[in-house]
Amino acid sequence: MATLTFDTLRQQVRGDVITKDDAGYDEARAVRNAMIDKHPAVVVRPVNAGDVIAAVNFAREGHLALAIRGGGHSVPGFGTSDGVVIDMSRMRGVRVNPEKRTARVEGGATWGDFNSAANAFGLATTGGIISTTGVGGLTLGGGIGYLARGFGLSLDNLISADVVTADGKFQIASDKENPDLFWAIRGGGGNFGVVTSFEFKLHPVKDIYGGPMFFELKYAGDLLRFFREYIATAPEAMGAFPAFQIAPPLPFIPEKRHGDTFALMVACWAGPVEEGEKALKPFHDVAPVFAEHVGPMPYPALNSAFDGLYPPDLQHYWKANFVKELTDDAIAAHVEHGSKVPAMTSTMHIYPINGAVHNVASDETAFAYRDANFATVIAGMWPDPAQNKANIQWVRDYYDATAPLSEEGGYINFMAEDDQSRIKANYKGNYNRLVQAKKKYDPDNIFHVNQNIKP
Ligand SMILES: Cc1cc2nc3c(=O)[nH]c(=O)nc-3n(C[C@H](O)[C@H](O)[C@H](O)COP(=O)(O)OP(=O)(O)OC[C@H]3O[C@@H](n4cnc5c(N)ncnc54)[C@H](O)[C@@H]3O)c2cc1C
Repeated sequence: MATLTFDTLRQQVRGDVITKDDAGYDEARAVRNAMIDKHPAVVVRPVNAGDVIAAVNFAREGHLALAIRGGGHSVPGFGTSDGVVIDMSRMRGVRVNPEKRTARVEGGATWGDFNSAANAFGLATTGGIISTTGVGGLTLGGGIGYLARGFGLSLDNLISADVVTADGKFQIASDKENPDLFWAIRGGGGNFGVVTSFEFKLHPVKDIYGGPMFFELKYAGDLLRFFREYIATAPEAMGAFPAFQIAPPLPFIPEKRHGDTFALMVACWAGPVEEGEKALKPFHDVAPVFAEHVGPMPYPALNSAFDGLYPPDLQHYWKANFVKELTDDAIAAHVEHGSKVPAMTSTMHIYPINGAVHNVASDETAFAYRDANFATVIAGMWPDPAQNKANIQWVRDYYDATAPLSEEGGYINFMAEDDQSRIKANYKGNYNRLVQAKKKYDPDNIFHVNQNIKP
């Protein structure tokens, strides 16, 4: 019976249909977080919306857990399941309309795909800081990155999306068509359907001036105190975030300091490049910069500068909060726990989400925390599973120290599986409206492999 069913699916799908007996199954079931070990009944790699419809119908009719995979970066491993996986990685096309300054982006594209296509026309929109992250998951949850202060979240730049909903129907979501669905997908993650194509606004950004600046740990408090004041009124072309980081073996860091922990400022000045050096001067004035790798570069170069730090197959455990005010007590907690970052691939970032992110009202999209100024992420990533306990403990201790000084909710894209209980807090006043949209578009909760909004 199962074989017959898979055969039927194979007849309907032009892309790949991979089951346990097929070559490549182990590769097809893996996601970025190496802790996740699911065994899907079938992985479908669609090449068009019709394939996606067939896979959604197959999962629904077979009552199988359905996961959607964009870039596969979800820390809780929402890009895989023991049932059906729709892996969008063969749908990565990006078509830029330079006159209208828009881009049509297929649902499996990464930010690397997007940025390289847009940069050829001197254009960009807000995306993440790593090029291998999926446009899909990142945008549907929010989209925080270097350009957010200037152009809003990734989802603020969405014009429309093509969505295959739980009933297998293809629907366009925009301000004019299915506006309730359009509202819900802008923050509601993968709860409402499979997005086969996104339409984005683009902005003129070609080269930026920026990169990482390393400061001795003793200046971490000064750096954070400076940052909270500076970023409140900094030009919107300035995207910058502080971090804690163990120095990797990079040529611009003296060899004898490789492996030492530093406070970091990572900056991206998207204004006129010739003003870049001046724009970054305030950071240099806080304290001596121990080592840095800043300068003019194409925007996609900064977007991929840290890719090597985060290879596939790391163990992942993250926690997150939104923050209105970075108090002195919060800074003290960051300095204490950030200084103990246990792995070169682990870090803590404080992303500013003011500027253009605040131009959108809290109820205009499902992303509710428009009054927060920062999104923090304690990102535990380490190579050795034998170190899981110690690394998870670092994330939890750090979170326990900072959460009471933060908002109740956090950014859904920075959360772990054990954060499902925070779902209402993450959406605040928008939660009930999300439940209504869920009841309409996915009443049986077919799309539940996510930070789940229950119908
Ligand atoms: C190394 C790293 C760096 C990151 N940097 C940033 C950053 O700078 N800014 C930021 O905001 N976030 C960042 N994130 C978090 C990131 O936004 C989330 O992990 C996001 O879920 C990743 O999207 P994805 O498509 O790669 O993941 P996936 O695991 O493929 O999917 C995640 C979720 O999104 C849904 N989804 C994905 N594609 C689609 C689609 N086409 N249609 C419908 N649903 C879909 C799935 O249902 C799933 O629940 C980072 C994560 C990692 C691991």
